[in-house]
Parts: sequence; structure tokens; C-alpha cells
Amino acid sequence: MNSFFNKVALFFIVAVLVISSIGLSPASAGTPFKDVSSSEEQILYLYEKGLIHGISATEFGMRHSVTREQAVTMIGRALGFDGTERSTKFTDVSSSRYSSGYIQSAVDQGIVSGYPDGSFKPQQPMTRGEMAYVLSKAFNLSKTSSVFFTDIQVNHDEKSLYSAINKIATAGITAGTGGGNYSPNKELIRKEFAIFLARALNSEFKVTFQNVTIDTLSSTTDNLNVRTGPSTNYNIIGQIHKGDIVEVYGYNNGWVYGKTGSLTGYFSLSFLAKNTPIPTRVMVIDAGHGEHDPGAAANGLVEKAVNLDVALRVEKLLKAKGITVLMTRRTDVFYSLDYRAAFGVKNGADAFVSIHSNSHGSTTVGGSETFYSASVANDSKQLATFIQNRLYKAMEHPNRGVKAENFRVLAANPLPAALVELGFLTNSSDAAKLATSTYKEKAAIAIADGIEEYYIWKERQ
Ligand SMILES: [Zn+2]
Repeated sequence: MNSFFNKVALFFIVAVLVISSIGLSPASAGTPFKDVSSSEEQILYLYEKGLIHGISATEFGMRHSVTREQAVTMIGRALGFDGTERSTKFTDVSSSRYSSGYIQSAVDQGIVSGYPDGSFKPQQPMTRGEMAYVLSKAFNLSKTSSVFFTDIQVNHDEKSLYSAINKIATAGITAGTGGGNYSPNKELIRKEFAIFLARALNSEFKVTFQNVTIDTLSSTTDNLNVRTGPSTNYNIIGQIHKGDIVEVYGYNNGWVYGKTGSLTGYFSLSFLAKNTPIPTRVMVIDAGHGEHDPGAAANGLVEKAVNLDVALRVEKLLKAKGITVLMTRRTDVFYSLDYRAAFGVKNGADAFVSIHSNSHGSTTVGGSETFYSASVANDSKQLATFIQNRLYKAMEHPNRGVKAENFRVLAANPLPAALVELGFLTNSSDAAKLATSTYKEKAAIAIADGIEEYYIWKERQ
């Protein structure tokens, strides 16, 4: 055991030495700069190509700001511009300045234009925003993508700062300064500039821009447009619906830039709200029959009254579970089956359970059964099954199972729907149980627990 581990350890030590000496070899070529470590690959790369010089023989000046003439000179060298010192169009760049040739070449190429007063301000530090303009023009970058920085106003004008930054981000030259920011007014330092330039020149150094999710919101309305820009003047590229989630990359004057599913675009903030993590649970409980429609009647029981008694118990139990309950009736009134079937959708419910009691020509027939809507078959069957599997046990009588059935209140119902038959009023044993509050409460608990189980199942889908 020991010797095996010693061999393994020895192997790793040798491997590490070999690998590190390989890793060190480019650095041994190195730079004369004591402020550039061997891990600064981009700076080594530029130095080896003769594109950068130090601020002294032994110092690159990593943290020093980059002046406008330095930036243009480095880009000019990289792109092979004519650097011959010569007169320029700028009042403050004389023909004897080291940068004059590159500055004039950059003007000729349309990369820089200077200030309206005819000056170039060669020794003024360049900002990160200015650099985006210069690099996007110098490298003819035209491709844009879904890029958002929280500190950059979106503006799809070709000449805007946003467009310039979008182009360099899309080209893999910048990923921002962190936290979704670009920091356009920050002075560019030489280290940053060298990294940007290396990325522009060599795809090995490129970074992948990724939007940062800073918030999660959900749509409060149906058919909310997703647009290509932050106003209603922009094209519609899709729509989202109530409850759909938007991952927010940034806010922009009442608009949100973000992602929903595979769509990235702009959403009006007026129709988005903080996402509530718990999904809504809104159940319709329908006590079957009512008023002049008594339903079944036997053994001293009338169906409409048994149904309502159990339904009101279910309502109370569901509310205690935090489930919103919509009752089609809470008193002895009559509603048509079509009214009941449409009631849920009209009031924002997500499922429907109708409570009934059975009758049969033969008094020996007993037990519970639960029907489900064949039109929303999968969810309806699950709902019916979760209820039925608890109900017959709670009632301590036969399990007549779960069945698809086109009862009007189910077939006309666009929601997942189930119809529960508690037991047979025509069966003396079932009826004796349904006459007691003990069994009515047991049945109600079974139904409420089954409904809760359905929601838990549904929310995991
Ligand atoms: Zn009935």
C-alpha cells in the first residue's frame, strides 16, 4: 500500500514539474516589466508582437490610465496603420508628436474624429465608453446581440454608446465590470486596454458575454407583448401570459429587459410584478343540485342537503390549507349545470370538484366512486384518483373506482374536473354513515386532502 502511494505521489511530483516548466516557458521569453506577471497572457502576447511598450524600461504601468493618443497608437500598430509622424487636422497634435501619424491615420479610417472645437486632447485619459467606440470602429464590428448593462441606456441607433458597447460585448471583447455594469465613464487603465486589444486580435482570449439576472418578475396580464426595444414603437417578437416568469437583466425607463423561456426582449414594467413563489391554488367546490332539484332521496336523506353539508366542510378544510375556495352555492339555491361548469374559469379557478350522493335501484349497491372529465383527462384523472383513494377508505365502504364520464358539469368544464359520489343514499349502510356528522367530516377530510395532494402533484409537473 505504502509503496503504491509513494509511486503515485512521485508520479504527480514529476508531472507537476514537467507541466509547470512547460507552463513557464512563454514567460521565460517574458517581458522586461516587473509589474507584469507570467499569467498576464494577453500582455505577453501583445508585447511579443511588438504592439505595446512600457511607460519605462522596466514598467508597463498596468494601473495607469490610457491616454487617448496612447490608445490610438496601440490600435494603429496592431492594425498596421501608417505611423509616420506628420501634420494632423487637430490643433493640439503637432507633426512632431510621436502619435501624430497614427492619429491622422485613425482619422482617415473614420475611427476617431476629435472634438467639435478642432482639438483631439491627446493626453486626456480615455474612458471605457470612448474605447467601445474606437474598438468597434477599428475592428469593423457590426454584429449585435442581446446585451444589457444596467448602467447603459438602451439606444438602437447605430451611432449610440449602447450600440458600440453591444458590438464589443458581442465580439467577446468585454463582459463588463461585474454586477451587470459596464462603467462607461471610468477611465480606462493600460491593463484593461491591453486585454481588450488582445481579445480583439486573437479569439483565444475572447470572453463570452452573459446577461446577469438581477430580479425575477411575473406577468400580471395575458398577452403581454415582448418587444425588441424599450417602447411600443419597437417590433413585437412574442407574447407572454399571466404568471409567466421574466428573468430581469435590467430596468430602462418603465421597461424591463429580460428573458422568458427562449425569448429575450423588452417588457412593459406596468404589467410585471414581483414573483410570488407559491403557485396560486384556486378550487371550485360545487355542491350538487339545490332548491327545486333535490337529487336523490332515500333513507330519510335528501341529496342536495348532504352534498351542501359536505361541501361546506371541504371549503373550511381547504381554506385552512391556504387553498382559495370558490363555492358555486353556499345555500339551498339552484344553478344550471352549464353555469356551474363555466363558473370556475370565469372566476380564475384552476380546478373543479363537484360533490354528489348516489342512488341505485338495488339497495345492495353501495360504496364511493369518482368521475373525471375526459376533456382534460390527465389532470382530471389525477384529481379524481387522489380524492377517491382517500374517500372510500374514510367511508369504510367499497371502492367503486375512478371513471371517465361525460356528465354535463364535467364535459362542459374547461378546467380539470372531478365529480365525487360520496355513497349511495339508497344503501342503508351508506345512508346511515352519511346521516352522521362524523362520516360527513371524514368524507370532507378525504376530499380536501386529495385536493391538496393534487396541487402538490400538479406543481411538480
Ligand atoms: Zn347528484
